[in-house]
Amino acid sequence: MKVIEVLQKKGIRPSITRVKILEYLRSVCSHPTVSEVYAALIDEIPTLSLTTVYNTLKLFAENGIVKALTIDGTNIRYDGCTDFHGHFMCSQCGTVYDFEISSAGEKGLENFKVSTKEVFYSGVCSQCL
Ligand SMILES: [Zn+2]
Ligand SMILES: [Zn+2]
Repeated sequence: MKVIEVLQKKGIRPSITRVKILEYLRSVCSHPTVSEVYAALIDEIPTLSLTTVYNTLKLFAENGIVKALTIDGTNIRYDGCTDFHGHFMCSQCGTVYDFEISSAGEKGLENFKVSTKEVFYSGVCSQCL
């Protein structure tokens, strides 16, 4: 689905800034923070402010368009891919990797309503080892 359609479906006005931010998030797999998104787009959108990026990402996350991740407990990172996948954070280089989870089997939640699923691993990535 096109970025504009995604926003319209959620009743969010597709302003240029919102479209650019969402396009950017969907094009990278680095799980950027607010300041990283800002730094990446400031050349293209000179009127952009950190507050705008923050509010836009918050709005997207509230509407399930992006995922907000609090992996390292300090910075919120944003993920343009909302399909279920796990995250691995390298404690040496800080890179957040996506990984596939093959068997998403759970036991003991049969009568529960699950609203979020997060899988976080941490350790040292193959590049740093
Ligand atoms: Zn690493
Ligand atoms: Zn991810």
